[in-house]
Amino acid sequence: KISLDVEKIRKDFPILKREINGYPLVYFDNAATSQTPQQVIDVIVDYYSNYNANIHRGVHSLSQEATDKYETARRKIQQHFNAANPEEIIFTSGTTHGINLVANGFSALLEAGDEILVSAMEHHSNIVPWQMLCEKTGAVLKVIPMNQEGELIYSSFEELISEKTKVVFLNHVSNALGTINPIKEIIKKAHSVDAAVLIDGAQAAPHIKADVQELDVDFYVVSAHKMCGPTGVGVLYGKKKWLEKLPPYQGGGEMISTVTFEKTTYADLPHKFEAGTPNICGGIAFGAAIDYMNKIGFDKIAAYEKELLDYGTSKLLEIEGMQIYGISRDKTAVISFNIEGLHPYDIGTLVDKMGIAVRTGHHCAQPVMDFYNIPGTIRASFSFYNTKTEIDRFIEAVKKAKAMLS
Ligand code: PMP
Repeated sequence: KISLDVEKIRKDFPILKREINGYPLVYFDNAATSQTPQQVIDVIVDYYSNYNANIHRGVHSLSQEATDKYETARRKIQQHFNAANPEEIIFTSGTTHGINLVANGFSALLEAGDEILVSAMEHHSNIVPWQMLCEKTGAVLKVIPMNQEGELIYSSFEELISEKTKVVFLNHVSNALGTINPIKEIIKKAHSVDAAVLIDGAQAAPHIKADVQELDVDFYVVSAHKMCGPTGVGVLYGKKKWLEKLPPYQGGGEMISTVTFEKTTYADLPHKFEAGTPNICGGIAFGAAIDYMNKIGFDKIAAYEKELLDYGTSKLLEIEGMQIYGISRDKTAVISFNIEGLHPYDIGTLVDKMGIAVRTGHHCAQPVMDFYNIPGTIRASFSFYNTKTEIDRFIEAVKKAKAMLS
C-alpha cells in the first residue's frame, strides 16, 4: 500500500476547493498544466512583496538577494536532474523555448544531407523547430514509427539510424498517449554513431525523476508549469560540451562579455543562452515546486498515479464502445479515449457542465491522431492530488454524457 496522504496534500492546493458549474472541481487536465500548491504561491507572493529586483547586475542589496535566490533555484534544479554542474542548466520560458534554442543552434552544425530522427509521437513543439532547421540546412527529417499500442518500434529505429544521423529527438513521455519511451537504449544507440539526443521531458518530469548523467542524455527540456510551478519558465539541461559548441539563440543584455560596434564576445555558460531579464520570480518558484514534489517523493507519486491509472482504465473499459489509445504497459497516468459514434468535443463540453476538466482535441500531436485516423481524443490525465472518488464522478459524468448524446 502506498503511504500518500492525499487528503492532506489536497489541502495544499487552493484551486481544488473551487466549484465549476455548481460542482466541486475535478481537475483531470494535468498533462496540459498542473495546479499550484500554496507553498509555491507563497514564494511568488514573497518575491513581489519583498525582494523584486533585477538580477546579476545590481550592487544593491535587493538585487543581490534576488540573484542569490535565483541562482539557488538553478542549483536545486541541477541537483534534481543530477546535472554535473549549474552552468548546464539554462533557464528558458519553457519546453518550446528550450527545443527552439537547440534546434536553432544546430543550424550552425548541420549540412545538407545530414539526417535528423524524430519519433512518430511528438508534440508539435518537438517537430516544427526541427522542420524549420531542415529547411534552413537541407538536413533530412526521418520518422521512427509507432505501433497500434502506441509504442515506438525499436527495430525500425535501429534500421533508420546511421552515420548520417546527427540528432535524435523524442519525448520521454508522450503527452497524447502517456507512453514512456525507452530513452536510455535510444540514447546509447544514438551515441554509437555520435548523434546528439534531445529528450523532451515535459510530460515525464511531473512523474519521473530523470538523472541526466545516468541517462547520458545531451539535452533534456522541461516546463515548470507541468510540475506544480508557474507558467512561462522552464529549463534546458545541456551537456557542457554541446552548450559550448552551439551558438547563442538570442542576442541582448546578460548574454555578453563585451560589446563594441566592431565585435561582441559572449558571456560564459549559462548566461550565453540567457539574454534579457529572465522570469526571475518564475525561476525561484520553479525551485520551490521541485522542493515540494521531492518532499512528497517521486517514487510515491509514480506508484499512486499508477493506481489511479489502473483504476480509471478498468472503469472506463466497462463503458460500451470505449476505445483507449496508447495501451503500453509502460505509461504515465494519461488516458486518451473515444466512445464509438461520439465526438470528443461533445463529451468534453458535457462533462465540464458537471465540473470536470479534461482535454479534448489533437493535443498538439496531430501525427498521432492521423496514425489512429481520428480527429482527436478525450484525454484524462491524473496527478498525485487526484482521487478514486474523483474518477468515480468522472465515470458517472461520461456515462451521463454518452446517454445524452446517443
Ligand atoms: N512537449 C510535450 C510532450 C508537451 O506535453 C508540451 C506541453 N503540452 C510541450 C512539449 C510544450 O510545452 P510548453 O508549452 O510548456 O512549452
